[in-house]
Amino acid sequence: MTDRPFAGRLFGPGLPGAGMNATGCWTESGALRVSTPGAQPAEFQAEALEIAAAGFNDAGLRISWEGPDGAGTFMVESEVERSACAASAPSGLNTRIAAASGQRSRLERHFRVGWLLLALFLSLPLIGIGAFLLQADRITDWAVAHISPRHEARLGDLVLAQTRLQMKIIDRGQAVDALSSIGSKLTSGSPHSYRWFVADRPDLNAFAAPGGVVVVFSGLLRSAGSAEELAGVLAHEVAHAELRHSLRGLIKSLGLRALVMLVIGDASGGVFADAATRLTELRFSREAEREADDEGLRRLVAARIDPHGMLRFYEKLAGEKRLAPPAILSTHPASGERLTRLRREVAGLTQTWIALPIDLEALQKNIP
Ligand SMILES: [Zn+2]
Repeated sequence: MTDRPFAGRLFGPGLPGAGMNATGCWTESGALRVSTPGAQPAEFQAEALEIAAAGFNDAGLRISWEGPDGAGTFMVESEVERSACAASAPSGLNTRIAAASGQRSRLERHFRVGWLLLALFLSLPLIGIGAFLLQADRITDWAVAHISPRHEARLGDLVLAQTRLQMKIIDRGQAVDALSSIGSKLTSGSPHSYRWFVADRPDLNAFAAPGGVVVVFSGLLRSAGSAEELAGVLAHEVAHAELRHSLRGLIKSLGLRALVMLVIGDASGGVFADAATRLTELRFSREAEREADDEGLRRLVAARIDPHGMLRFYEKLAGEKRLAPPAILSTHPASGERLTRLRREVAGLTQTWIALPIDLEALQKNIP
């Protein structure tokens, strides 16, 4: 222990409301000694002291006690003085001062993220939004973690509205009913209310927008060999939505400005104009695809839908002999590694499956 002094302000009975300049130090016996000009120093035992972070941005320290004449407080107001106080504090008080520092660093982190977001928001028009955000994974993580399912659903609505401008979307009918019937088995326990749509497009494609909007292209519906194959694709798409890959991808692709506009309720701007295009072209990372395969498979098994359907559809996609790869392959890169992995996983399953009561052939004949 040393008696290295640290400056602060003393508040208490008989002192001015604004307190008065004082000097503190720790005595050999571990007590706080507070000296004010022209008065006898007062001493307070360490065990009687309350210690908390205080001051602007919690940079200081508030040391308070109950004295014989009433409550007193010694405010250490600057970071320099706080360090001096901490450095010479008796060992028993170190942990309490460290705990007050912990409070502070949490607050600092909040401040830092807050300022960073504000600075980013203000500078977005000036810089390449996408290029910047691609490097700012941590900001995207933060944004994804803080957006609520309600806002996510709203983003899904906007994507759907934009998709309608670009392609014919079928809202009802046998195919939509079938998607909804299979989908409801795959989405139990989800925070989202899923909505299912068919897009009148020949591509082998499907995508899940944030918040539970799933769009399956008619080309994919026509190429499915069984309801279980279709369920495999739906399970994979649902997994992307549940794991918030689509949300993350959109935030990265559209920029944080879109998110801020969404949260403050100004969705009228042109930011969302190409959201739908971007979503159908969004390429997920290999890791995200692996996660979606695993989660999709888990959901199929939980719903007792035969996952050999998923495997068959993947094999079919991998064997496609077209000049250009099917859209779903370019947006969900299906490497041989993914297929091998899925084959191994499915081979290890011993459950019995319940056939899906869907008349796929009738449905395919009735796709507009
Ligand atoms: Zn995928």
